[in-house]
Amino acid sequence: MEKVSKKYDIAVIGGGPAGMIAAIKAGEMGAKVALIEKNEKIGIKLLMTGGGRCNLTHVEKSIRDFCSKFGKEGDFLLSPFSVFGTKETMEFFENNGVELKNEKGKVFPASEKAKDILNVLVSLLKKYKVDILFSSEVKEVNKKGKLITSISLLNGKEIEADQFIISSGGRSYPSTGSSGDSFIWAKRLGHDIIDTKPALTPIETKEQWTKSLQGISLEDVSISLFCNQKKESEGRGEILFTHFGFSGPLILDMSRIIGDLLEKGKVKMTIDLFPTKNAEQLDKFILSVFNKNRKKHILKCLNDFFPEKFSAFILNFSSISFDRKGNDITKEERMRLVKFMKKIEISIVGLLGFDKAMATHGGISLKTIDSKTMKSKIINNLYFAGEAINLDGPCGGYNLQMCWTTGYVAGQNAASGVK
Ligand SMILES: Cc1cc2nc3c(=O)[nH]c(=O)nc-3n(C[C@H](O)[C@H](O)[C@H](O)COP(=O)(O)OP(=O)(O)OC[C@H]3O[C@@H](n4cnc5c(N)ncnc54)[C@H](O)[C@@H]3O)c2cc1C
Repeated sequence: MEKVSKKYDIAVIGGGPAGMIAAIKAGEMGAKVALIEKNEKIGIKLLMTGGGRCNLTHVEKSIRDFCSKFGKEGDFLLSPFSVFGTKETMEFFENNGVELKNEKGKVFPASEKAKDILNVLVSLLKKYKVDILFSSEVKEVNKKGKLITSISLLNGKEIEADQFIISSGGRSYPSTGSSGDSFIWAKRLGHDIIDTKPALTPIETKEQWTKSLQGISLEDVSISLFCNQKKESEGRGEILFTHFGFSGPLILDMSRIIGDLLEKGKVKMTIDLFPTKNAEQLDKFILSVFNKNRKKHILKCLNDFFPEKFSAFILNFSSISFDRKGNDITKEERMRLVKFMKKIEISIVGLLGFDKAMATHGGISLKTIDSKTMKSKIINNLYFAGEAINLDGPCGGYNLQMCWTTGYVAGQNAASGVK
């Protein structure tokens, strides 16, 4: 096995958000760092985030509110978050020249370009002289007793370092490089792995008509979920029509419960397009709209509320001809519209798997990691960061923030431990 001539203070495996920030922090503290990435580029998944706009964090009222979004595992984040949370992350990017904007708590670069976030990280890696080893797939993490001694690469090289950080992601979107290797190494090194499942996944429906509405999103609808005809859950937010069914923040956030229900029986969902109005109020509202637009085609009237393609779909499903005008809609037709708008019924066939999941549920058990330092409780010179850890939050910038937080703390503590 060919050894890399240089011995590093810290070797970071995985050039995603968690690994990049860990390497930057450790480099800033003076450590000699190698960032090892199997792809030809770093940050491939980061560039896809937020539809290319990168929803990099979320502003919550308090640290506790933020952490509670990670469910019962969220308490683990309280300590690292007090070191590098939302505020510090925003300051970090702003101090490095990225203007940010806040959209109802979701924070994006003002340019709406994920590339601007990646560019800052790349320039800091350069500034702190981090060696980025591209096209370098880690095959094995070698240990002796309670210490990692080196990392073996698929290309035959071996990397030696004092401290090691595993930040090689989970199993979601494997096309970006995150193929679950973190779990294999962590397990071999003695850590428990909580069973992994795709999280934040789009859903597949029996109905094929969603295909014709692909790309249309509805910002504020409510969804009710039924399993074996019993109502189990509801939620409100934005949905997106896709060629296989639905995606969008509300669907992605509800995908965990949908997955659980699918294991129990037949799952249906109903969509309410006007969640703030009951049927009677909606009928009155529609009547007032039609009365105000007596000479206008009904399709145009609906366009005030929905994208045209979706308005046409509503009329088709309610069996109302497009050329009818506001003043010649019968009460019976109005009732059909109201009924449809309040309850569009969908049969859910399944969840899309890891290929289209935005996060991984499960992963390296929190019981085997010290939350103050992100250090392994089993191996003395090993740290973990990012999606590889058993932490997954909802849509809205929570998952990236978890990566910035755990990566920063891992980098900081690994650098403090350098001899
Ligand atoms: C389409 C999409 C949109 C998203 N949008 C958002 C959003 O807007 N906001 C948000 O908060 N979150 C979002 N997420 C989630 C977010 O992208 C992840 O939480 C985050 O990328 C995880 O970072 P990470 O560094 O832990 O892992 P990753 O980003 O997965 O990076 C891990 C890196 O390790 C490398 N690697 C893996 N195995 C090896 C190996 N054997 N040897 C060497 N290198 C290896 C991989 O190639 C990869 O580069 C989105 C996810 C997806 C898929």
